[in-house]
Amino acid sequence: MSASKRDYYEILGVGKSATAEELKKAYRKLALQHHPDRNAGDKAAEEKFKELSEAYEVLSSPEKRQAYDQFGHAGLGQGGAGGFGGGFGGFGGGQGFGDINDIFGDIFSEVFGARGGGRQRGRGGQRGSDLRYNLNISFNEAAFGCEKEIIVPKEMSCKKCSGSGAKPGTSAERCGTCGGVGEVRFQQGFFTLSKTCPDCGGAGSQIKSKCSDCHGRGRTVDRARLSVKVPAGIDVGQKLKLRSEGEAGLNGGPTGDLYVVISIDEHPFFQREGYDLFCDIPLSITDAALGAEIDVPTLEGKVKLKIPSGTQSQKRFRLKNKGIAQLNGRGRGDQYVSVHVETPSHLSSEQKDLLKKFAELSSGSYPNSSSFIEKMKDWFH
Ligand SMILES: [Zn+2]
Ligand SMILES: [Zn+2]
Repeated sequence: MSASKRDYYEILGVGKSATAEELKKAYRKLALQHHPDRNAGDKAAEEKFKELSEAYEVLSSPEKRQAYDQFGHAGLGQGGAGGFGGGFGGFGGGQGFGDINDIFGDIFSEVFGARGGGRQRGRGGQRGSDLRYNLNISFNEAAFGCEKEIIVPKEMSCKKCSGSGAKPGTSAERCGTCGGVGEVRFQQGFFTLSKTCPDCGGAGSQIKSKCSDCHGRGRTVDRARLSVKVPAGIDVGQKLKLRSEGEAGLNGGPTGDLYVVISIDEHPFFQREGYDLFCDIPLSITDAALGAEIDVPTLEGKVKLKIPSGTQSQKRFRLKNKGIAQLNGRGRGDQYVSVHVETPSHLSSEQKDLLKKFAELSSGSYPNSSSFIEKMKDWFH
């Protein structure tokens, strides 16, 4: 193709001493005029557009421009600075590619008005999906924090091709159908509509020789082994965000995040509400009446709780700072102990006799029940 190739400066209509700014201006003006979206089905315009893009790709790169100035088209041979494979679209090295994309952005702003943020598929790639992992931990692990190893199957960037999808040593080529933008526009009545480019699927590039591991997808499903630090005080349903541990992006897009959602086993005798703990303790009728010191379970083991004489059933005691550590590190919740006075059953005859004796001695001496009896009398009067 070298013999028939036109001079790049001539294609862009600028002098050999044109500045980068002048080149850009010239390219933009001509590219707008010949852009395939404006000249649907016009083969000549398409060729012209390809030619323009190629010329600009070379002249906008200082190294390539120097090689071209010195040796002409021959200076850009295969493996050289540019390495154009098949004319348009064969931009090998990747250098200068960014420039082209920038300019495409500009052009599209002019032709179609401001482009929404979500439309830049051909430029930024697609962000990988966020993932959710359900992690179940024990009551104590939640209370004190823990470190858990999890294995997450996910789409990861292909190791062989570093996510490019192209066979190592080769690279993706810009899609000729959409000019690298990832979408094509078409006229319907008065409207210009756009759709995802059917040839590149919105990627803006096409892979000619695919990576053998991922078959051009750029990602492979793999199992990631991750260590998750669960902070003390975490509660059911709370999420831990592991940044960039989600699925790999597509076409160079960023990696998604991983959300670890916590569930917690029940405890045999603690119930949790926020950072406070609640538990029920049985209390014998004699301990309740006479007072006692009883053993009460806490997260750290048994502690003594003083029961005053005359304690009623359902009475609640507070153990300060014996609850769950707060996530913000500001101290701990409390533990509440409710006592339940147990009525004795299966009494021996001796116990029965003693209780009868006790009843005789205590008739009329229960303030709560006597006031109730008074109320009842009033009611049925
Ligand atoms: Zn395309
Ligand atoms: Zn691959």
